[in-house]
Amino acid sequence: MRCKKCKQTACFQIRRHNAAFCEEHFVEHLQNQVVRAIKKFKMFPRSEKILLAVSGGKDSLALWDMLVDIGYSVDGLYIDLGIPDYSDVSGQKTRNFAEARGLVLHEVSLSRAYGVDIGHIARKNKKPPCSVCGVLKRYVMNTVAERHGYFAVATGHNLDDEAAVLMGNVLNWQTEYLQRQSPLLEAKPGMARKVKPLFRLAERETAAYCVLRGIDYIMHECPMSEDATSFTYKEVLNRLESESPGSKDHFLLGFLRTAPQLFPQDPDDGPDLQACTRCGQLTTTGECGFCRQMARAGLDSLALFHSDTPQERDQHN
Ligand code: SF4
Ligand code: ZN
Ligand code: ZN
Repeated sequence: MRCKKCKQTACFQIRRHNAAFCEEHFVEHLQNQVVRAIKKFKMFPRSEKILLAVSGGKDSLALWDMLVDIGYSVDGLYIDLGIPDYSDVSGQKTRNFAEARGLVLHEVSLSRAYGVDIGHIARKNKKPPCSVCGVLKRYVMNTVAERHGYFAVATGHNLDDEAAVLMGNVLNWQTEYLQRQSPLLEAKPGMARKVKPLFRLAERETAAYCVLRGIDYIMHECPMSEDATSFTYKEVLNRLESESPGSKDHFLLGFLRTAPQLFPQDPDDGPDLQACTRCGQLTTTGECGFCRQMARAGLDSLALFHSDTPQERDQHN
């Protein structure tokens, strides 16, 4: 196998692109895919600073490395969910990454603020941890982005994640979710612009990227994860992909091309919003979902941001 670019011995094959690359050109190819995604969806210009949600896993750290290497201005946001063992390791890997490169990392910690983990809040709300975690993460991302004036919030969702979500949405005819499934969600009052620049890259490619770039990431999945169906969808899609390389690309990219005709967006179409009576975030109800969730767990939602890292405290003062 020869590198498509320089004809030296290739180290990595991308069957769906019918191409193989040496180390240098593999890294370049992946970065080009990210630039292509950013430009195609007009996610953010180089002149703007963006916030990247980092978990310590391969996707978010690879994306941080790529964006900074390409020349974008990106700060990180790590949310410590207080999950025993897992959060300590993932937080440390994220901090190590940021420190080694002199990057700004915002941290918001459940355990430092309340001495509890996400499992405690889930039990008190009688909800699955991932549902409670989703509300918390969206709230924290929007709040930090607004406080610090970031242009957009990026997440490390890759091709496999997005194709699996699409499969679930199609199988269950979740038209409301299909309507919103896009690598770019425009900013709305109370909600930051959300972007997913990794959606063209497969999971194994970001893992290989981390190895080649010497990025130390947490390999374990979050132990709270109980979304077995999403693993099943990924397995089914992997089987399809191995039989017919390019299936995931066709499925997801084809949907993204067709979606604007299927679901025309009306910019004025949205619910009436008012300030949350507790925290001030815009919401459709009196108290926002996050404040209600925390109240059910007997916690003061306003205390979450008082546990920011010293760096964050300095910035607020
Ligand atoms: Fe949160 Fe669930 Fe993801 Fe764990 S698996 S980080 S609980 S959404
Ligand atoms: Zn090459
Ligand atoms: Zn609120």
